[in-house]
Amino acid sequence: MTFDFDLFIIGAGSGGLRAARVAAQHGARVAVAEEYRVGGTCVIRGCVPKKMLVYGAHFAEDLHEAARFGWDIEGASFNWPRLRDIVQDDVTRLEGLYTQTLNSNNATIFAERAAIAGPNTVRLASGQDVTAKVILIAVGAWPTLPNIPGAELGISSNEIFHLENLPKRAVIVGAGYIANEFAGILQAFGVEVTLVTRGDRMLRGYDNELVDRLVTMSSAKGIDVRFNFPLSGVSKQADGSLLVEGSGLDAIETDMVLWAVGRTPKTVGLGLEVAGVEIDAQGAIRVNAYNQSSVPSIYAVGDVTNRVQLTPIAIREGHAFADSVFGNKPRTIDYSAIPMAVFSSPPIAAVGLTEEEARAEYGSAVKIYRSDFRPMKNVVSGRMERGLYKMVTAGPEERVVGLHLIGPDSSEVLQAAAIAVKAGLTKQDFDDTIALHPSMAEELVLMK
Ligand code: NDP
Repeated sequence: MTFDFDLFIIGAGSGGLRAARVAAQHGARVAVAEEYRVGGTCVIRGCVPKKMLVYGAHFAEDLHEAARFGWDIEGASFNWPRLRDIVQDDVTRLEGLYTQTLNSNNATIFAERAAIAGPNTVRLASGQDVTAKVILIAVGAWPTLPNIPGAELGISSNEIFHLENLPKRAVIVGAGYIANEFAGILQAFGVEVTLVTRGDRMLRGYDNELVDRLVTMSSAKGIDVRFNFPLSGVSKQADGSLLVEGSGLDAIETDMVLWAVGRTPKTVGLGLEVAGVEIDAQGAIRVNAYNQSSVPSIYAVGDVTNRVQLTPIAIREGHAFADSVFGNKPRTIDYSAIPMAVFSSPPIAAVGLTEEEARAEYGSAVKIYRSDFRPMKNVVSGRMERGLYKMVTAGPEERVVGLHLIGPDSSEVLQAAAIAVKAGLTKQDFDDTIALHPSMAEELVLMK
């Protein structure tokens, strides 16, 4: 049987783009369908523009503290539309670069929605059917909205990058990555932020001690953190402001509600049932270690599989898929010791097991080391915030099985240290390494 293409990819995000390039370089004839913008969530409305806003947010504290470093800065003010537009210009530049990569690899781009119409057939929104030997689904995930009255009055992380003006007040609902990152960003830009969570913990999966420290620091900055808030609805008042209601508690009046309650695999309306592609209870496509779905000719990578919703993972999966299927190099991904960071203010970065996870796995063979320090810059600026680095070791050889950092630039510090954890190095290996002085990273080799 002959097909129009060797590979048809639905979704030009991080996973799809990598798979397209690598498969093309292995000689495959590749087509990609994208209904919105080439680049996907990370580039268009996720990690990349978010990080640019984080850089913008840093200036709030730096300008405030500049006088302590001898700089008098008068009349400093923040211009949201200017930052927003510069960020969007860069997003457009990146979209162009990714499109260029597809073109230079001779991939055919269909700028429209596509759905599965059979094991080897994709139906485009225009009605055209296209056939391919292999189909890769890389459509990602979509912000989840809570199932409560007035949910439509709030916005998601999709819209936040395009706000015409910043609100005076914002309620952010959620306790995960997006909630904590945007709480820091908006607060720095002068918005009165209330962070509303349904439970009594934030950032599940991160070390409790570090998360507690983040909550303390967020509160000290003026972010109003409300735990155990049983959200029941949102309503609009006559003056246009919003009321966020929680059963049995005082409603919170605000000007904007940001939903940050997770992301759902974007499989609705994708025609998966036509071909018999299995999904799980969350709507994620079930795949094996080689990213193959229950239909042998259909594969899936990235957030749509809901394994680990992180860009570098989607990229690795896309690459491994292309090598396995088109490069004659079958390979799977090692999901252990993935470095992760929350770009909160300050950021948290972690790799490996938390103390709790390590104790569950290794019992009394776990030993914890810490460094609780005041960064030199904070000493000069008069800021009281302290960093905390925590090392989790296991076994008599004290192998480092987890590293957890909170403090300025912790994500930059962690990446290199994650190599040591991945390589299975021990506490002694860290101790044997000379400190790089003065730096914050030296705390990694000075833990007690
Ligand atoms: P997260 O999965 O990080 O967090 C979702 C939060 O929403 C949880 O704290 C959860 O609370 C809470 N929640 C879920 N349902 C409800 C509800 N009905 N009412 C109130 N609260 C609710 O999701 P995000 O939306 O922040 O981010 C989505 C994903 O995107 C992340 O999982 C991450 O993989 C990725 N991401 C990564 C970033 C990074 O790497 N820096 C940055 C941004 C996103 P509970 O704990 O009680 O379940």
